[in-house]
Amino acid sequence: MEGAKPGATEAANQIDPKDTIFAKIVAGTIPCKKVYEDEYCLAFDDINPVAPVHVMVIPKHPVSGVGNLATEQDKKAMGHIMAKIHHIASLKGIDSYRLVVNEGVQAQQSVRWLHIHLIGGRQLAWPPG
Ligand code: IMP
Repeated sequence: MEGAKPGATEAANQIDPKDTIFAKIVAGTIPCKKVYEDEYCLAFDDINPVAPVHVMVIPKHPVSGVGNLATEQDKKAMGHIMAKIHHIASLKGIDSYRLVVNEGVQAQQSVRWLHIHLIGGRQLAWPPG
C-alpha cells in the first residue's frame, strides 16, 4: 500500500479478526469454494486469483496476523496447516507452488485474519514485487 509507514501494522492490529470476511467464511454465513477443511484449518479458492491455482489457507481460530501468534492453540494450528499445505496443493493438482503471507499494511495485508496464499499452476517469477 503506497504511503504506508513502518508501524502501520500496529494500527491494523486494532482490527478484530472476528470482524473480517474470513470470520464469516469460517462461520459459513458467506459462501466459499472449499478446497479442504479439517479441525484446524479451512482452504478455499481466492475470489480474485493471481494464478490458475490461488488458495487461501486459514486457521479456523481467529488470529489477525503472524505478529499475533501467541497461544499454544495458534502455534499448534499453524504447524498443522504447514503440514497440510502439500496435500491441499495436491487437491488442486499441483506439487510446485509459492506460499505468501502478507503481514501488516505495508505488506498489503487486506484481510486481518491470518492467511496463507497458496499460489501456483503457472511459472512464477522471482523476486516478487
Ligand atoms: P491479503 O491481501 O494478503 O490480505 O489477501 C487477502 C486475499 O483474500 C486476497 O487475495 C483476496 O482476493 C481474498 N479474498 C477477499 N475476500 C474473499 C472472499 O470472500 N473469498 C475468497 N477470497 C477472498
